[in-house]
Amino acid sequence: MSDPTPEPPETDKPKTPTSPEEVTRKLEDFIKNTLGGQVLFTRVEGPGARPVKDGDEKAEGEPEEDHGEAFEFHYKPADIKAHLDRFVIRQDEAKKVLATAVCDHYHHAQMLREDRESGSTGPRLEFSKQNVIIIGPTGVGKTYLVKHIADLIGVPFVKADATKFSETGYVGADVDDLVRDLVAKANGDIELAEHGIIYLDEIDKLSSGPEKLGRDVSGRGVQTALLKLMEETEVPLYAPNDIRSQMQMMFDTRKGRTGREVVNTRNILFIVSGAFSGLDKIIEKRTNRKSIGFVSADTRPTVIEHLFRESRTKDFIDYGFEAEFIGRLPVRVVCDPLSADDMFQIMKNSEGSLIRQYEREFAAYGVKATFEDDALREIASRAEEEKTGARGLVTAWERVLRDFKFEMPSLGLPGLLIDGALVKNPEQVLARCRTEAATFAVELGAAHADEIKAFAERFQREHGFMLDFDSSAIAAIAARAQREGMHVDAMCAKLFKDYPFGLKLVTRSTGETSFALSADAIANPDKFVSELVVSACRQRPEAPSSTIIDITPEPTSHES
Ligand code: ADP
Repeated sequence: MSDPTPEPPETDKPKTPTSPEEVTRKLEDFIKNTLGGQVLFTRVEGPGARPVKDGDEKAEGEPEEDHGEAFEFHYKPADIKAHLDRFVIRQDEAKKVLATAVCDHYHHAQMLREDRESGSTGPRLEFSKQNVIIIGPTGVGKTYLVKHIADLIGVPFVKADATKFSETGYVGADVDDLVRDLVAKANGDIELAEHGIIYLDEIDKLSSGPEKLGRDVSGRGVQTALLKLMEETEVPLYAPNDIRSQMQMMFDTRKGRTGREVVNTRNILFIVSGAFSGLDKIIEKRTNRKSIGFVSADTRPTVIEHLFRESRTKDFIDYGFEAEFIGRLPVRVVCDPLSADDMFQIMKNSEGSLIRQYEREFAAYGVKATFEDDALREIASRAEEEKTGARGLVTAWERVLRDFKFEMPSLGLPGLLIDGALVKNPEQVLARCRTEAATFAVELGAAHADEIKAFAERFQREHGFMLDFDSSAIAAIAARAQREGMHVDAMCAKLFKDYPFGLKLVTRSTGETSFALSADAIANPDKFVSELVVSACRQRPEAPSSTIIDITPEPTSHES
């Protein structure tokens, strides 16, 4: 039980190459033996890859430029909170704590750098890192907070589930990949990556508490590996056991790019999170709060959050964490569960609201979607029942809007009112939309009939073919033009662009020059004309096999 992470037997481990030259030689030998002499090495992108900007090819031996600007940080906690308020509803305490921790962290990093650059010979500044634990259920905005902080301050951000590492053998190498991912996210700017944020969710699953016997060994191994990263270590830029990374190193070496090959983790901020179910019981026992057992089911979650706010390091150790690991995460904050009203506010007021996304999706088909508050309230209460936080909103909306998203783009209606009635009975409202669409198309067709007839007359004058549109075709053309935001005449020109060529073939075979078109033809005009051509060719019994059909397309009107 006390043995940490399982390591593969020595013989199974890939032998780590000792130098770039050795890697180059080995790979060249291998590839030549396998594929023959004519082998060209090309660039391989991947984690650890350093970016090469256009025109960045360097002469052999030319020194590598340092392409990272020095990292600058000028924010105050209130600036960060104000930014978060635009996107994240509730979680005020988490916003404040995170904003303060982030400012402390980056100001310290800046001071350390300035101290170093000034050549100061005094004692090195002491700096205890502000790594954070966020406690909170799923879907309440934990990742969203961290992502928006990283966006604002312009540092790369990598998120992973801690469970991913406990399920594989090479724990140490895997956690190092997080750092290399930061470099990739920073487009190879190592200095920027060294100021990035690594966010690990489901950290509670690494504990070796009584309920988690299966993960005991590997969970502890991951804690140890993470501990190293959280303190300060140098991670190789090229993963020793990854062939792509090694090939990139070989390429860079051949090109004379001999920049830094390690990433220092001193200034990387670590934020971990989890639901920590059961931690409340440990705190309850320590604080001797007997009352919890008697609260109603409705108020219990709030009471649990209250208890979480009283957590101490010892509680996390009792929960099954290593003391050293939990000690490296000094900032602790709780995110609250979201109520139906919070979810309503998320839809109504967050700048990242799902509603804005749906509006854009419908607008792409010329449909103006209008969401009423009663619809938002109904969805919010359904989402609350899902117990997956704001993620439940997507589930609830998808169920209601699925068929609308499929059909509305083809119905040609200019708008859709999404109200409580639609949410409660989507099938009925969709059936009404279909009827309205038919009436609307006829009305729209009537309004544009003259323009469509004028197009047909011009087509006849220019090409000698009469396009005889029935009322369903006229309605379909007008509806399609409205849907695609085009003028009716331009729509006709687009739909019948290839008709002169196809109809010429038909006329040669059958002598017909007048063609009746209905709504079917408008739905797929090219298919319609090719079917006409095929059936005309079939009707030509005596065509000798040597007959040459002139298929030279006639110039279209805009080309002539
Ligand atoms: P978790 O807490 O599990 O990390 P996320 O932050 O990934 O959850 O939330 C999932 C999505 O739900 C986010 O991308 C965001 O759209 C929405 N969301 C969650 N919580 C909030 C919130 N408090 N305010 C606004 N949107 C939220």
